[in-house]
Amino acid sequence: MSLRQLSSDLLEGRVSIDAAQPMAPRFVAEEVASRTCFVSSFANVTAFTTDAGLLLVDTGSFVLAEPTRVALRKATAAPVTTAVWTHGHVDHCFGVELYEREHGPVHVIAHEAVARRFERYRLTHGWNAAINARQFRTQAGFPTEFRAPDETFATTRSLDIGGRRFELTHALGETDDHAWVWVPDAGVICTGDLFIWASPNCGNPQKVQRYPREWAQALRAMDALGAEVLCPGHGVPIWGAAAVHRALDDTASFLESLVDQVIAMMNRGARLDDIVAAVRPPESLLATPYLSPVYDDPEFVVRNLYRLYGGWWDGNPAHLRPARDAALAKELADLAGGVAILADRAEQLRATDLALACHLIELATQAAPDDATVRARRTLIYRERAGRERCLMARGIFSAAAES
Ligand SMILES: [Zn+2]
Repeated sequence: MSLRQLSSDLLEGRVSIDAAQPMAPRFVAEEVASRTCFVSSFANVTAFTTDAGLLLVDTGSFVLAEPTRVALRKATAAPVTTAVWTHGHVDHCFGVELYEREHGPVHVIAHEAVARRFERYRLTHGWNAAINARQFRTQAGFPTEFRAPDETFATTRSLDIGGRRFELTHALGETDDHAWVWVPDAGVICTGDLFIWASPNCGNPQKVQRYPREWAQALRAMDALGAEVLCPGHGVPIWGAAAVHRALDDTASFLESLVDQVIAMMNRGARLDDIVAAVRPPESLLATPYLSPVYDDPEFVVRNLYRLYGGWWDGNPAHLRPARDAALAKELADLAGGVAILADRAEQLRATDLALACHLIELATQAAPDDATVRARRTLIYRERAGRERCLMARGIFSAAAES
């Protein structure tokens, strides 16, 4: 099936996003607009033909850059001379050397904060390797070497390359180093991960701060351009000015709604627990084909917003300088009449309230870490919980818990 057909099937509701996961690499290259070739991979690559060689927007992941290059090469043999990274996540900015091996140097342009990200990645290599293993259930590890961009910019940058114009704009959003790219002669917008055919990855529980409000502003700025084709960081392109407008407008509205609700409650002095329980994205937007929580979850965006505007303390005074988890667990196990009672109740709750079941089985495990019966029940509870999760981030963490 062509990417264009899949895109229309998704938008018209003939295919559900669960059956066409936006991160699924298809390794297909397709002409999406005039002199514009889109390569579907885990993170996509868009190639623009110019009179001075190809300009790539993103270059591939540290795992899949080579099959992505092979797919591109089925569509064009032109040398790659320029690359723009939409951000420094490791699924977007690898593989430049594969093209340099073919035809010589590639000039890489990215936002200035990419360098800071790579420095952080060197500092926190073990942490990032562990996150990747949990999040994606993969043994792929995490890179240790990063190719620096050759040129960076702070807010905007216009490029005139081989007779074509590329307008780069920095935005805070999924990251602090994002850039989106507008190519006026083709009517193409490359959004990076500001659009990914899923509820915005804007609350990722294991990642650094993200910026929902600025993200929405970036979507509004893109929407104002009237693009004919949207090339996303993940998932298939969207064709047609009306459909592109709807996708950008809906995603912006979705984020704005979360931002407004969280800030209003924070301004009234609400605790994080109350905010998480009360804030909901509009149902009509949640039901669109491109805002399903299949990757990140709006609930996590709420937490991310609270952290951004309020810090890490959740408003519960007991949580400011808490007792150790194990001390609280032992106390509660004693009060309940023993660890087995906590574990039995957790098992009962597995059918009706998995969140509560997880709390009780964690208490039982922490009160008696070596109890084999408790551990076996814990495995079953987290397996069950992972199986019911649509959100990949949550599924990864619960699956890892089941295996730990
Ligand atoms: Zn990405």
